Amino acid sequence: MVQEISDDLPEGKEENAEETPIIDLASDTFFMGQAMRQAQKAYLAEEVPVGAVIVRDGSILARSHNQVETLRDATAHAEMLALTQAEEALGDWRLTDCDLYVTKEPCPMCAGAIVHCRIRRVIFGCADEKGGAAGGFINLLQQPTLNHFSEVTQGVLEEDSKTLLKTFFLEAREKKKRGGE
Ligand SMILES: [Zn+2]
Repeated sequence: MVQEISDDLPEGKEENAEETPIIDLASDTFFMGQAMRQAQKAYLAEEVPVGAVIVRDGSILARSHNQVETLRDATAHAEMLALTQAEEALGDWRLTDCDLYVTKEPCPMCAGAIVHCRIRRVIFGCADEKGGAAGGFINLLQQPTLNHFSEVTQGVLEEDSKTLLKTFFLEAREKKKRGGE
């Protein structure tokens, strides 16, 4: 977003004009914004728009987006690709100090992988009541019987993620309809 700075603001607006937008580079919103950029990439590639980033000590180790169609691989979810990238970056499968940001609640496959990699925190955008495995229909990230627990934060940039997904599925349906005519 571009903020315009104008010299001739009407009376009473000076205060707002002086407010510079504060972007906390370590905030959940910032990193989810980065994950949203990945989701946009997926959207442009006609993939279900989900994006993920993995963060350690305030820096991004991995960025990825859903590539199921591109790679013709049902396991190529954004989270799976991000986990592999982060493991490669660290030279270790243990991602103990890492936090994963993903625009949509992880599915059971990804939640399983997240637990295996011992991700510290999972932050997601919109929930998936039907297929989500971070509390949506099941919570694999916080199973007492498993040997690893991830902290979960949900609802970060929820509306942005939801809107993008809705747009994608609406357009996909319309395309299908047109193709069938
Ligand atoms: Zn998944």
